[in-house]
Amino acid sequence: MLEVKTPEEVLRLIDKEFQPLGRSETVPLEGALARVLAEDIPAGEYVPDFDRSTVDGYALRAKDTFGCSDAIPAILNLVGEVKMGEGAELRVPRDSCAYVPTGGAIPEGCDCAVMIEYTEDYGDGTVGILKPGAPGMNLIFRGDDVFPGKTVLRAGRVLAPQDIGALAAIGKTGVPVHPRLRVGVISTGDELVRADQQPGPGQVRDVNGPMLAALLRGFGAEPVDFGIVVDDEKLLREKAEAAAESCDAVILSGGSSAGVKDAACRIIGEMGKLLLHGIAMKPGKPTILGRTGNKPLIGLPGHPVAAFFVAKLFVLPLLARLEGRTLRSYPVRAELEESLNANHGRMQINACRLEEADGKLRAAPIRSKSGLITQLAGADGYLVIDRDCEGLPGGAEVKVFWN
Ligand code: AMP
Ligand code: MG
Repeated sequence: MLEVKTPEEVLRLIDKEFQPLGRSETVPLEGALARVLAEDIPAGEYVPDFDRSTVDGYALRAKDTFGCSDAIPAILNLVGEVKMGEGAELRVPRDSCAYVPTGGAIPEGCDCAVMIEYTEDYGDGTVGILKPGAPGMNLIFRGDDVFPGKTVLRAGRVLAPQDIGALAAIGKTGVPVHPRLRVGVISTGDELVRADQQPGPGQVRDVNGPMLAALLRGFGAEPVDFGIVVDDEKLLREKAEAAAESCDAVILSGGSSAGVKDAACRIIGEMGKLLLHGIAMKPGKPTILGRTGNKPLIGLPGHPVAAFFVAKLFVLPLLARLEGRTLRSYPVRAELEESLNANHGRMQINACRLEEADGKLRAAPIRSKSGLITQLAGADGYLVIDRDCEGLPGGAEVKVFWN
């Protein structure tokens, strides 16, 4: 029997025992949202590819306008107009200017643009400039945004809409991403029936299967449903082996404590190397982790609330590790609505609701000893109480993890 580990030790163990898979597949840009980038993306070209104006105004040579003012405008010859979406073939000689729209190309020889607000068109082929330009003023130069070889996005990034925009800008329409992890999900227990079945005496519906599948999908993995297995060690082992055969990771739930029928630990130990049996957290203590090669074999507690928190706090970071990324969760600060007890020497997780009132965020812990649905349904997030903490008074500032 392995000793119980602290949550920090478990996260370190995960990093030590599992390595990024380093796999890659190419998907079209429109399918790349929320996928994990498999490689750094360097630009292959200049963006923009030409010098552009950032204002509506006149492109000109700054030195032709030095010293001008409202009272003594610089008078320049207007030689023409740059059209949007066309190159600037115009020649702009000394003491001349050309009209340029926002984003228009700057003609050769010009070194700045003066906003239209600081000019006066005299209508006779000349323009008065009322405010001096300066070299580079109101310009974006070729390659200012990116240039060939500059890294635009790094491997491990989960692609957000703004990243899709950046990829479009450099013409990267085939995007190398990590193939979705296939994760086998098995629920175990003689008492379980599928959610679409009516439980008989002593039976309950399988909560963990659908819940874990949803959690995995939200993370970006592909859950593979291996259904419900009764508490029969041989059958469970066959299912777990089939799952390990075709998936990148296997999650069993139920049967992870030390009961006679609790075979998950033995099975995981026989299929590979047992790394962990027990995390010092509440809920969630009876958790098992093992591996066959670089493939995680995970045994979650059967109790759905425990299974949920262990999966969220440890399984998702583990899967992220396989994809070469690190999960980040930014808690919000909230005021605890009522006191919370904790004095058992284990890290405690409490589901809570968030409420905003008078511009203040308040965290209302969901208290329910055994009420399963009330703890899962409608929780906005959870708060963590350190193992050394003896409880928190109402009004205390807490951090709520909510995404
Ligand atoms: P176990 O870890 O198998 O000892 O189960 C602990 C508790 O969780 C028992 O009350 C089980 O009925 C319940 N349980 C186990 N697996 C599931 C599941 N997939 N869905 C709902 N409840 C479960
Ligand atoms: Mg069981």
